[in-house]
Amino acid sequence: MQVESHPLRKNTKALLIYSKAFLLLVKLNNQVTRIKYRAKGISRKRKDYYIEHEKKSSIMKRIVILAIGLICFGKSVSAQKFPRPNCTTTVGDAMLKEVDTTKARGVSDNYHTWENGQVLLVKFMPGGSKIMKDKVALYAKEWEKYANITFKFVPDTTRFTNIRIKLGAGLGHNSAVGTEANFRTQSTQTINFDTLFFTDGDYYAGKLQKKGVRPPYNLSQLVSEVKADPNHWNIPELKRVVIHEFGHSLGLLHEQSYPGAVKWKKTDSVYNYYQETQGWSKEQVDFNVFEVANQFYTNGTTYDPRSIMHYSINPWETTNGYSVKQNDELSAGDKTIIAALYPKDKKESSLIVPKVDITNFTKLTVINNTIKKGLSIYPVFDLKTNSKLGKVFFVARLTNEEGYYLETDNQYYNWGGTAATYLKMNLLPNIKVSYNKANQKNLELFFPYSKMPELNGKKIMIVFAVYLDDESNGQMDKLMYFSMTNPLSIPK
Ligand SMILES: [Zn+2]
Repeated sequence: MQVESHPLRKNTKALLIYSKAFLLLVKLNNQVTRIKYRAKGISRKRKDYYIEHEKKSSIMKRIVILAIGLICFGKSVSAQKFPRPNCTTTVGDAMLKEVDTTKARGVSDNYHTWENGQVLLVKFMPGGSKIMKDKVALYAKEWEKYANITFKFVPDTTRFTNIRIKLGAGLGHNSAVGTEANFRTQSTQTINFDTLFFTDGDYYAGKLQKKGVRPPYNLSQLVSEVKADPNHWNIPELKRVVIHEFGHSLGLLHEQSYPGAVKWKKTDSVYNYYQETQGWSKEQVDFNVFEVANQFYTNGTTYDPRSIMHYSINPWETTNGYSVKQNDELSAGDKTIIAALYPKDKKESSLIVPKVDITNFTKLTVINNTIKKGLSIYPVFDLKTNSKLGKVFFVARLTNEEGYYLETDNQYYNWGGTAATYLKMNLLPNIKVSYNKANQKNLELFFPYSKMPELNGKKIMIVFAVYLDDESNGQMDKLMYFSMTNPLSIPK
């Protein structure tokens, strides 16, 4: 791989559009993920306010890193003269106890895999050409050869889908991990493909060269060449990225985050390389590049440098000269892990963990209950458990308008030191329940005004989350769902 700095951040018109879309996305993602990962990072078991307060700094840091991690341009500067993004995901839940299991291989988030045999409805959001859509559908289906899963591509007008793809520019390549796609509303995509980076860079660079334009070229030059002469695609790149992102959509994580696999050189030269080629801050590099998964997520397997879920690595990025070439095809290991997670020859994966699926979440109704003097919170959704018993917590927490949780020293209305009301439920295996649907109110989270922190007339937001404890595997506080209201005025 050729190392070069290129004008990714030059102030061209095309890039201005890019940065604007980026900033907007950063803003949106910060809003959502700040809360999401705050919710994720704090253990409810710590009721002691002061202990919790000490933990705050590390929690804050984690939120920032993860918020950024969602939206970064990936690495990979190709031999061609245009920059190319790789991929980012919402990976990173590495706060867990080390447990080693057996069988298969691969780094996966088993709490967010779909049901074995599930037919996943997939649609395209507005944008993108027919040619491109056909290719995405074709390559996504590579996984079906090995996994007991079906990607059913349905018309764009379909109201309910599991996976939604946005073909466009400026959003990078990224995907929600498995059922985390359920956290997004039906009007939001769960996978982004940056089609500009699927273009055949060598072809367009050749055209510029013929015109006598010398490299390095920037994105606006690429955009104008593509406009004049579209549909010259880099098919291996397109295929690689589509398979990689759909791997995330099935619950796979990045293979380079396998514990101990890569001895990164965490020096200025490496940080600077990502700063120059991707515009990443130190925190973004820490998250996107250096992140290490918890041992539990390896499924007890060995590390697979040939996985399609692996980033490519330059030898000078590691302390021992270790490098990884770009992988364009599914490795034997990829086929094994996906078959183990979604087996065709049995009903259930042997890697199955307790799970709850929250679907059809339509709204979070909040009522000022004047009789009981407090807020009655009614989340509206369907819930389904799998064959394992699940201990689940439904939690409603208060935040200020900026999305920061409100601290409390109340003994009961408290979730990890922050103001919350919650219900603990021991759910039976293999059940389906609808909550607060068809005019019945069968799940209420009540928060008395007298137990809330002082609001001083300020607006608040309510964050609803579902957590699961998997005591048998020592995995606690697994975030199974997340949703929030707009700012509300409380008559307190
Ligand atoms: Zn990825």
